[in-house]
Amino acid sequence: MEFRDLKTQYAKLSSKIDESIKNAIGSGRFIMGAEVSELEKRLANYVGVKHCVTCGNGTDALVLSLNAMGVKSGDAVFVPDFTFFASAEAISAVGATPVFVDVDKDTFNISDVSLSTQIEKVKKEGKYNPKAVVTVDLFGLCADYDKIRKICDDNNLLILEDAAQGFGGSINSKRACSFGDIATTSFFPAKPLGCYGDGGAIFTDNDEYADLLRSLRVHGKGSDKYDNVRIGQNSRLDTVQAAVLLVKFDAFKDYELDDVNTVAKKYTEMLGDKVKTPIVKDGFVSSWAQYTITLKDKSQRDLVQAKLKENGIPSMVYYNKPMHRQTAFADIICDNNDYATTNALCDTVLSLPMHPYMTDEDITMVSNTVLSALQ
Ligand SMILES: *Cc1c(COP(=O)(O)O)cnc(C)c1O
Repeated sequence: MEFRDLKTQYAKLSSKIDESIKNAIGSGRFIMGAEVSELEKRLANYVGVKHCVTCGNGTDALVLSLNAMGVKSGDAVFVPDFTFFASAEAISAVGATPVFVDVDKDTFNISDVSLSTQIEKVKKEGKYNPKAVVTVDLFGLCADYDKIRKICDDNNLLILEDAAQGFGGSINSKRACSFGDIATTSFFPAKPLGCYGDGGAIFTDNDEYADLLRSLRVHGKGSDKYDNVRIGQNSRLDTVQAAVLLVKFDAFKDYELDDVNTVAKKYTEMLGDKVKTPIVKDGFVSSWAQYTITLKDKSQRDLVQAKLKENGIPSMVYYNKPMHRQTAFADIICDNNDYATTNALCDTVLSLPMHPYMTDEDITMVSNTVLSALQ
């Protein structure tokens, strides 16, 4: 069994994908070809924002966005303690200081209570200028933007929505990538919408940010690429990857997103009485980058994972180490007691195989194996 079955997806879409790649190569426009602008148009339309600017990967998308927002050395940027490293790494990459925020035990997303606490701490200390929050739509589920936006407005903070895992999710039909002042996503192959290499995209309604982002991704270009008006990056989505994404995006919106939600519902029906299954609040739709259960303690989690492995079922621990305990952030002073939920989650979470091509037999086998380990 595959954790995320990209081979079955390709088998289903191969004739269209092969054709699309062939056309892209035939055009000879390998960088910023027609497929790239077509994809940007379609993605912006789907998300419901004015601008989509594609780029090299989801990490570059974050760095480009922070630069466009003017985030710099001396600024504090708040970020969940429970996330993939890149969410916090990008903050340090632009010279600012990440301030870790604990998460909510039910949604795994940034906690409004902890955010308020950390903002007060930074203000009281007076060392850094509170500038922005990188929210993360973890495992496919949007953060609680009603609450977070209010706190940010009260404290004059920008929101950068890291929707690398969240693309396709929504709150009351408003889609992920439309909640931040700027939002980013990743097309890394295993993400909800993935390409066949690295890729990323940035979304915003703000014309000024969009202009800056289009400049920053091509060496800070001015009127053309040999007129350079600022320091940027070289970070573009390849035309061939855009060609792959045009086909995969149709499948994603036509049935894959529905199908992962069906898989999640079946898992929850089978497992919900015995283990803590993901909680999706009213009005929210997840794109199920991960289906993550929470076990009683570390020994039970490790036991379930071992039992799955014994039966040839892959599972993953996302994530086993909080940001505040990463070696790369060792010089950032923080209080381990502020991160009780993240610390507990790192010991107890387990992500099960999840993708749109899972069969009922797969779901039953995974669920029964989990249940048998709990007896
Ligand atoms: C994958 C991921 C990224 C980085 O995306 P890449 O395309 O791999 O650079 C950033 N943030 C989160 C939450 C991710 O899961």
